[in-house]
Amino acid sequence: MDYKQYIEIVEDYPKEGISFKDITPLMNNGEAFKSAIDEIVQFAKEKKIDLVVGPEARGFIIGCPVSYALGVGFAPVRKEGKLPREVIKVDYGLEYGRNVLTIHKDAIKPGQRVLVTDDLLATGGTIEATIKLVEELGGIVVGCAFLVELSYLDGMDKLKGYDVLTLMSY
Ligand code: 5GP
Repeated sequence: MDYKQYIEIVEDYPKEGISFKDITPLMNNGEAFKSAIDEIVQFAKEKKIDLVVGPEARGFIIGCPVSYALGVGFAPVRKEGKLPREVIKVDYGLEYGRNVLTIHKDAIKPGQRVLVTDDLLATGGTIEATIKLVEELGGIVVGCAFLVELSYLDGMDKLKGYDVLTLMSY
């Protein structure tokens, strides 16, 4: 399917110079959304996945239907202060400033095979931090899946050695 017809490009959002890829029209179309999720499920099927992990907020939108289809659990990665129980943290650099992501300490058992999902791969900082959390808890990242890759931001460089699926590239 040509998914790009369902992506709206918004120039200068959220700030000047950024060409934002809005995935909400794709989610809004049942056929396109189902097809995209089905492709990720196919990618994950042979990997014997135990758990899907995704960062807030759009990583949930992709990860939850995939985990449901696979019949495995989903563990959310959230910004600091959002998860109610004991967490581990990772601190990573943004273009301006820093961000902290957390996961519940008991969300992953050592040796569990994990699929990591997000809507979009840009610089790769978010996914690198998410992978760090999974691996710190002893999880094995057996795949990473995104709807969109912004190839001009070189996020793939941070995913060397991982099995990565992207459905669209800009
Ligand atoms: P990165 O950490 O790879 O630089 O940025 C990726 C993260 O920022 C993802 O969680 C993604 O949701 C968000 N993001 C960055 N740019 C865009 C964009 O153009 N469109 C969408 N939908 N999300 C973006």
